[in-house]
Amino acid sequence: MEFTYYMPTKIFCGRDCIAKHADALRTLGTHALIVTGKSSAKNGALADVCAALEQNGQGFTLFDRVTPNPTVGCVREGIALLESAGADFVVAIGGGSPMDAAKAIATLCVQPRTDEEIFAGGYRAEALPMAHVPTTAGTGSEVTPYSILTNDKGQTKTSITSPAMFPVYAFLDGKYMNGLSRATTVNTAMDALSHAVEGMLSRNATPISDALACESMRILYPLLPKAHAETLTADDRDALLYASALAGMTIAQSGTTAVHGMGYALTYFHHIDHGRANGLLLGEMLRLCEEKGLPQVKKIVSACGCGSVENFCSCLAELIGEKEEIPRETLVGYAAHAMQNKNIKKSAYEPTQAEAERLYLRSFGYGV
Ligand code: NAP
Ligand code: FE
Repeated sequence: MEFTYYMPTKIFCGRDCIAKHADALRTLGTHALIVTGKSSAKNGALADVCAALEQNGQGFTLFDRVTPNPTVGCVREGIALLESAGADFVVAIGGGSPMDAAKAIATLCVQPRTDEEIFAGGYRAEALPMAHVPTTAGTGSEVTPYSILTNDKGQTKTSITSPAMFPVYAFLDGKYMNGLSRATTVNTAMDALSHAVEGMLSRNATPISDALACESMRILYPLLPKAHAETLTADDRDALLYASALAGMTIAQSGTTAVHGMGYALTYFHHIDHGRANGLLLGEMLRLCEEKGLPQVKKIVSACGCGSVENFCSCLAELIGEKEEIPRETLVGYAAHAMQNKNIKKSAYEPTQAEAERLYLRSFGYGV
């Protein structure tokens, strides 16, 4: 029973929470850089944020050029706009991509780094204050201190972190997800599930992160078939968003582990969505942990209410559908690559390179 718990983000959850708590934004500064993609102009989130800022008499500049899997170049473009606009705080709206870009912009503008130094770690607890509005239910980035950027030199995705990357505020309103496609809904839900499961399977798990993970899985898992069948109600969307935030609070303590570490190669080299990449590998990882006798596996199965690891794997297979075709030798190469990833070392059971190979191969339907 020795652990620390730190999650300083104030969460406003519920319908129209931005309008209801617009006042809170006043404390952040006088001029916002709004960091987003293109969808927030269509789902109502951008309009709600602009109305709140206008009501407070705060100025804002829009940076809506973030695309999936944000790059260092995108972050630099955001910083240049922030500086020319004289913004003193950041509002992120979107999925994990705009939220992560916003965190990097808010941090790197006060702690400048060259491209070579960006992934070297050692960031101070200093960043411009941020408010985050998630519009997918998956990454939980609104309650984590991580920003995950495309790392071209390492040919992977790499996280940068600082305690100051926790947003000051997170606004959770499921109404923005009404028009989210089935593919993105399912993929992001698999990301959230992966955070909760990997949180339990992390060396750095704590009693609080386990409690958050179990509650997240209890809510999330039964909603997966509804996400797949496109029968989610507005209440279900709210529940998914809440479960995603719980899973984010889990990894804010535990970090992610082998599944994320191995999934990055699938995203970097094959453009497989982040959540889907995790979903493809998660079942086999759980099988491996069961084989190794990890006691966490029973807790995961019980929290999901799925009865067995096999049922868990079948549920994921249903969500995944047809798999991408990746040659055997390519997957074997990724196992060597993934062993360099720092997330793998955080796994309660750390797969060997041979096991990582088997995991990749089985996940893509190869017999081994
Ligand atoms: P995303 O890349 O942010 O968004 C995926 C797609 O969904 C985009 O095309 C986006 O459009 C669209 N979209 C977003 N919200 C929508 C809405 N409400 N209605 C309609 N379309 C919408 O995907 P994501 O899965 O949320 O985030 C993935 C990223 O998060 C990855 O880079 C991953 O590495 C990172 N991540 C971060 C953490 C963390 O702790 N920081 C944890 C896990 C994953 P627009 O782009 O046009 O808006
Ligand atoms: Fe993730």
